[in-house]
Amino acid sequence: MSPEAGHLKPEKRFSGIPVSPGIAHGNVFVHWFEEDEIPIRNITPEQVSEEVSRFETALIATRAELLDIQERIANAIGAKDASIFDAHLLVIEDRTLIDEVLKALDRDRYNVEYVFHRVAERYCKSLSEIKDAYLRERVVDIEDVARRVIRNLLGKAPKTVNNLERAHILVSHDLSPSDTALMSRELVLGFCTEAGSRTSHTAIMARSMDIPAVVGIHGVCSELNTGDHVLLDGYNGVLILNPSPETLREYGEIESKKEEIEENLELLRDTLSTTRDGKRIILSANIELPDELNDVIASGAEGIGLFRTEFLFLNRSTPPSEEEQYENYRLVAEKVAPHGVIIRTLDIGGDKFINGLDLVEEQNSFLGCRAIRFCLRHPEVFKPQLRAILRAAKHGNIRLMYPMISGVEELLQANAVLEECKKELRAEEKEFREDLEVGIMIEIPSAALCARLLAKHVRFFSIGTNDLIQYSIAVNRLNDEIAHLYDPVHPAVLQLIQMTVEAAHAEKIWVGVCGEMAGDILYTPLLIGLGVDELSAGASVVPHVKKAVQSLDAKVCKELTEEVMLSGDSSKTTARCEEVSRAHYPDLF
Ligand code: PEP
Ligand code: MG
Repeated sequence: MSPEAGHLKPEKRFSGIPVSPGIAHGNVFVHWFEEDEIPIRNITPEQVSEEVSRFETALIATRAELLDIQERIANAIGAKDASIFDAHLLVIEDRTLIDEVLKALDRDRYNVEYVFHRVAERYCKSLSEIKDAYLRERVVDIEDVARRVIRNLLGKAPKTVNNLERAHILVSHDLSPSDTALMSRELVLGFCTEAGSRTSHTAIMARSMDIPAVVGIHGVCSELNTGDHVLLDGYNGVLILNPSPETLREYGEIESKKEEIEENLELLRDTLSTTRDGKRIILSANIELPDELNDVIASGAEGIGLFRTEFLFLNRSTPPSEEEQYENYRLVAEKVAPHGVIIRTLDIGGDKFINGLDLVEEQNSFLGCRAIRFCLRHPEVFKPQLRAILRAAKHGNIRLMYPMISGVEELLQANAVLEECKKELRAEEKEFREDLEVGIMIEIPSAALCARLLAKHVRFFSIGTNDLIQYSIAVNRLNDEIAHLYDPVHPAVLQLIQMTVEAAHAEKIWVGVCGEMAGDILYTPLLIGLGVDELSAGASVVPHVKKAVQSLDAKVCKELTEEVMLSGDSSKTTARCEEVSRAHYPDLF
């Protein structure tokens, strides 16, 4: 798909949240929610009545679907919340919309899903242009209803977004981590969504896959059409429709400058991440899937500080067997040798749902039956994974890490299951690693508060700032509406990190950070100053973090940390972090 001559049309800019760096330039594919490909068929005059009756049936089915949802919501949380679906029901009964579809069917003679899609799209476009908040809100209802009607017309489960055959910039309301995991790096040049946040797993995946991405551009789906020519700036969170020749030239220069920086960073690949005054920081990488290993190796990371194994479970109907997991873990360990890999046990729930597991979608899913809680309730899922890790650890430098540990009891329960697995393997005379090192993620405030107690039972901590921030400030990490409250340097977050580091060191274990904060060079001085021993970041940013560490003095970092811990003002903290980082590695900004 070669970009059209967009410069003939006026340039328009949309701002959002930058979540994955890079610049993409090409034609847009607007993913109409789940129905990414609406079939187009010509119909004969005789077929019009058949299409009308298909349309009526779909409307009836959609109405029943909406009433059912409404009833379920009313039973679960009350009639008030269920009433939000009244507006949806009104759309189904909207005579103007229905008549327009019927007229267009007769006039244009296309299949009804295509006709309906076009009419609904036009409706949404005109409503979104009206300066009335209520009417603009209705756009979301119409889009949702349209999606349901089309799904019913197609009579099949929603398609994923990954079936396109031409390179494009994907624009969608939202994308799930599994949609993102399935994306082709060759075909999806970049993506932008209306919803989303920096630490959603979709954003994390985009960074690991090196796909430039911007999220939180409200209403962008109705502003763009498939085929529009755009430039996506994943550094600053901007989407530019019809970029002018000047803009393209400007971005061309930015790209060459960035390439030059990347080339210089490559020279650091085989060096260690040690500060100018000799403090050694272990720098490792996070992965989601084994196919990211080459990037990890190329990044110069010292192994893998976080292997998010749940991605092995996504996009399939049954969980991977013990054998399949064993092969994967062994492969990863062998490939990163002599460095090590920390395998995190299944962290499912939250924003990651898996087919074939008994996992119910629940309200407040981040506070629900997620990660270790799910695994402890489901030994049939947990044990094969533990057994696979124990066995693979015989062949490489593997450590095991439990996610979402909230206190000592939970940790001991998990360890008891691990012991059970060892016992079974011994009885089966299968080879495994008896002294497998076990660590935990510190990502729940209760764990940070009990860190001293927890440290007595593990060999290391890895601080999951993505969750630690959301849980300590009570800010849903996925909600773009409150993204401004998601503050990595909130004094409470910094205190929890500090407590965790002090507890770990008092008990003589090491402590790392594997949340997204570890890969943000703005915070490198602060994390070094707080005393962490390891940083684990996405492979694409590892070279940047290495350069940052090598440019800093641990003494300066310590002074910065002492200063901000006393001030308790997060805007000032951010400003000071920026000052120190820019002074030490200006080229990286
Ligand atoms: C975290 O919470 O910081 C973390 C690394 O885990 P995840 O992002 O997978 O929840
Ligand atoms: Mg987490």
